[in-house]
Amino acid sequence: MKPLLLHTCCAPCATVTVEEYARAGYGPSLFFRNPNIHPYKEFVRRMESVELFAEAMGLPLFVDGDYPLEENVALLLASDPRCQGCFRDRLGATAEFARRNGFDCFGTTLSVSPYQNRDWIIQAGGEAGDEHGVEFVCIDCRPRYRDSIAVSREMGLYRQPYCGCVFSERDRYEKPSRTRQGEHGEKR
Ligand code: SF4
Repeated sequence: MKPLLLHTCCAPCATVTVEEYARAGYGPSLFFRNPNIHPYKEFVRRMESVELFAEAMGLPLFVDGDYPLEENVALLLASDPRCQGCFRDRLGATAEFARRNGFDCFGTTLSVSPYQNRDWIIQAGGEAGDEHGVEFVCIDCRPRYRDSIAVSREMGLYRQPYCGCVFSERDRYEKPSRTRQGEHGEKR
């Protein structure tokens, strides 16, 4: 198995993503780094859920518990489309961490969600990989999305009702016609 640093947005998305990367010959170590999750209590809840999942599966886990709220809100407000900036931030930090810690490649659990823009993920990960000299491996795990819901239910993992940022939290209460392209309230 080739060691791979897997950016992990949440435990439910990690369930089948870990399996798919392993099936492709990679041995994932999880990396939680998601300052986009608002509010802080939700951030902690998802972080703790990933810790429980990693322990249950016997997977190595690195956690970045920093929560630069002002910086992150400023980043999201300055990004258009917003999700593109969000992907760049998280995958950039993952690529940098991978290089500093001896990983040759990295991936992301974002690749399981049909609600995320795959082209933007590939672009952000590719640019981050080029910048830091590590390979971005983006396996398309979307066909396993329904499985991820079933497995996370079986394991009793916390399943969040929105993607993460305060804007996506707002959007889940709004009519679909007001939801911006590329953003979503994750319906799990
Ligand atoms: S909707 Fe999700 S991916 Fe898009 S900016 Fe908000 S947290 Fe990031």
